[in-house]
Amino acid sequence: MRKTAASCLFLFLALVSCFAADSADPATIVYTTNSGTRYHREGCSSLSRSKIAISLVDATVSGLTPCLSCKPPVLQEKEKYLERYQGDIYRVHLANLKSYRDADTSKMLVATVIRHVDGDTVRLEFENPITPVNKIETIRMIGVDTPETVDPRKSVQFFGKEASDWTKTALLGKKVFVALDWDTRDKYKRLLVYIYTAPGECHNARLISEGYGHAYVPFPFQFLDEFRALERDARTAKRGLWAEQAH
Ligand SMILES: [Zn+2]
Repeated sequence: MRKTAASCLFLFLALVSCFAADSADPATIVYTTNSGTRYHREGCSSLSRSKIAISLVDATVSGLTPCLSCKPPVLQEKEKYLERYQGDIYRVHLANLKSYRDADTSKMLVATVIRHVDGDTVRLEFENPITPVNKIETIRMIGVDTPETVDPRKSVQFFGKEASDWTKTALLGKKVFVALDWDTRDKYKRLLVYIYTAPGECHNARLISEGYGHAYVPFPFQFLDEFRALERDARTAKRGLWAEQAH
């Protein structure tokens, strides 16, 4: 009898925790589209054209609403998160910016560039990191790809050293402002950021406009169209890596 009661209780608790786990972890990944106002579960037919991974909390505080057909999880206590997130990390898509030049450096995290890796990757030490940012982070710059410096066999890697050196000169030891966008990290867990050296001065954008890298667009980001245009201009003007190759 006792045993039965105990196993009933166990079953009950297991069920409860099961439902609790299902009721919307803020970090749950859901998906949205370039232009949509809703968010979805993986595999929803609304995602056939574009698919942007986003955490449930980001989807919620951005004002996206759950899809009516795939019924993704819904965040409870939305207000709590609205307050916490909007006051904290500066994400350019939440600010709904049209141009990278309009980003507000006074709202960004401040960091020092403590190590240089290559043209689009550096290591930062943050002054006052707040969740989800750690004190020390290796970051990858959003929306730009500079030629690799590790594998010199491929022709596209021409100009990799120049790009790497340029970032080193421009950033190493400097204090910078850091903004985030839709995705917080890449698959290597590197923090995905825009680096500003001053108001309106975005290093990601300058890498492209100076011809040190191209617009990297497999994953959508707020300034995608603008970065593409910067690349077009750099190609037309034959700047940097576009100068000596017959593109
Ligand atoms: Zn859906």
